[in-house]
Amino acid sequence: MTTSRGSQIRPITAHHANQLYQHGTLALLVPGLLEGTTTIGELLTHGDTGIGTGEGLDGELIILDGVAYKVGSSGVAERVPDDFTMPFANVHHAAFQYQCARSDIGLEELNRRIVEANGRANTFFSVIVRGTFSFMKTRAVIKQQAPYPTLVEVADRQAMFLRHDVKGTMLGYFSPLMFHGAAVAGFHEHFLSDDRTFGGHVLDAVLDHGEIYSQVFDTLVQHLPVDDPQYRAHDFSNDPIAEAITSAEGDTK
Ligand SMILES: [Zn+2]
Repeated sequence: MTTSRGSQIRPITAHHANQLYQHGTLALLVPGLLEGTTTIGELLTHGDTGIGTGEGLDGELIILDGVAYKVGSSGVAERVPDDFTMPFANVHHAAFQYQCARSDIGLEELNRRIVEANGRANTFFSVIVRGTFSFMKTRAVIKQQAPYPTLVEVADRQAMFLRHDVKGTMLGYFSPLMFHGAAVAGFHEHFLSDDRTFGGHVLDAVLDHGEIYSQVFDTLVQHLPVDDPQYRAHDFSNDPIAEAITSAEGDTK
């Protein structure tokens, strides 16, 4: 059997590296639709890299190299099993491209430079920063029980953590402004230390030195929990979606 030369060149679409898969939307967290409606096992069939939160906002998740970790309100990272459920997650197949090295730069400036270098503020992309952070401030929401509170009500039910001179990986997703609601416009970044003991949702950081890699997506696969009774029945007409997401997720200060 002969194989044509063309068929040996695998287009990037063949392994879905151009696709961001999102389960749930941030908008459904706003009124407290926090039931776990997918599992880590299912999510890993759509990628090996990602972020998310568990049922009842149980911890901040980060998936690196096909392994999922959760940072709960104790601040300690732990591996999560395949049957762990989530209301919201982003995942993709890693095919990052080296972008640049940076040193001694704060999170806000770093993020601004990443968008500038990428030149694509109107598309989804992922970014990985590997290096040493002179400080890293993270948070994890305290797990809520049903009946679930709204996203605004849980804003003060979170623990914050601070580490100095920590080596690790910051994984983020950038979403365009016009998708605020489905996601948080701008960056949503989670961190995991190299020793796999510390992490969380990034609030602020200073990168001492590190390397930046990015991966642009041309396709968003938006998966919805269509069989979840609460999601099916909920009326979103009075939920302050954009404002709640901005106050709960959009503040990286
Ligand atoms: Zn987060």
